[in-house]
Amino acid sequence: MSIKTVLITGAAGFLGSHLCDRFIKEGYQVIGMDNFITGDKKNITHLQKHANFSFIKHDVTEYIKIEGDVDYILHFASPASPIDYLKIPIQTLKVGSLGTHNLLGLAKAKEARLLIASTSEVYGDPLVHPQTEAYYGNVNTIGPRGVYDEAKRFQESITMAYNRFHGLETRIVRIFNTYGPRMRLNDGRVIPAFMGQALRGEDLTIFGDGLQTRSFCYVDDQVEGIYRLLLSDYSLPVNIGNPHEITIKDFAEEIIKLTGTTQKVIFKDLPVDDPMQRQPDISLAKKILDWEPKIGRAEGMKITFDYFKSLSSDALYKSEHKDFSSYNNK
Ligand code: NAD
Ligand code: UDP
Repeated sequence: MSIKTVLITGAAGFLGSHLCDRFIKEGYQVIGMDNFITGDKKNITHLQKHANFSFIKHDVTEYIKIEGDVDYILHFASPASPIDYLKIPIQTLKVGSLGTHNLLGLAKAKEARLLIASTSEVYGDPLVHPQTEAYYGNVNTIGPRGVYDEAKRFQESITMAYNRFHGLETRIVRIFNTYGPRMRLNDGRVIPAFMGQALRGEDLTIFGDGLQTRSFCYVDDQVEGIYRLLLSDYSLPVNIGNPHEITIKDFAEEIIKLTGTTQKVIFKDLPVDDPMQRQPDISLAKKILDWEPKIGRAEGMKITFDYFKSLSSDALYKSEHKDFSSYNNK
């Protein structure tokens, strides 16, 4: 049997780099693609000399040319943290729309199967809890987060159109908050934010009253779910995440205990349209993929903290600590 080729966009990012590792481990030929807008070359340095890995620096919103066969495409390129997509809103809209269109065209030309990285943000600030795939969502199209949410909703729509109109093989994963090593210390998401603050001896910044909830999934569990979905025959959206829900306030206390910091929590304004609750209903993934998360928060957070601790103090202090006050969040 000939070796299969997979193209992974967003390869230098957090999830993309872990997916590259997984597909290399499974014996695939992996082509990574990234323009480094929010990613880091260091996330894939260890793969550069691997015989089955190659890398193309490219912005996926521009026409994509690949020589030879491609069997699978995983489209993970996109800013993913609220700070990032507030800072680069147009690029966020373009990568979800134009980028996805280019990748659908490439998949069609190569007769490849395309999996797109969608998100729990398609549910917006959800009125149904926990969120099932059948829920249509509650998104403010014109709010600051709309650039990400609507790009991802369009991405799902155009993917289903190619599936139905062209018979293209497609998969849609709705990813819920995922964490682990290789997150960017200054990407503004709550885990790198709190851990960076604890390591620098700063107070932990809770946005709002901290009663909003999230449910955090460790990266290895997420990658396993995505891998199974790609190889399944199911083309409608599937939630992948860990249903263990916690308030941000309680989560900050957990991080204070884990890191041993003597700092306290402080309260800042809640960003506009910040969802008040989020928990995936994973019944569908359990049923069709026989998948459920295996790594609890205590274990996953310890591995993640060890990773952040291992970074140089340069990385820790030079990383500008960004928060929403720098951006027009109205
Ligand atoms: P990340 O920022 O670490 O990675 C995104 C990567 O995409 C970066 O390396 C960036 O440089 C690259 N990229 C962005 N625009 C590009 C373009 N136009 N051309 C080429 N490369 C480009 O983010 P992540 O957390 O790894 O997220 C990866 C994907 O998963 C995103 O599509 C995101 O929407 C989705 N997702 C992630 C989460 C999560 O919790 N991590 C949750 C929901 C959805
Ligand atoms: N958050 C916080 N303090 C921070 C960063 C984030 O309280 O320093 C909150 C944020 O308002 C949200 C939750 O943590 O309610 C998760 O934020 P994140 O940016 O990680 O992801 P989201 O799920 O909102 O996309």
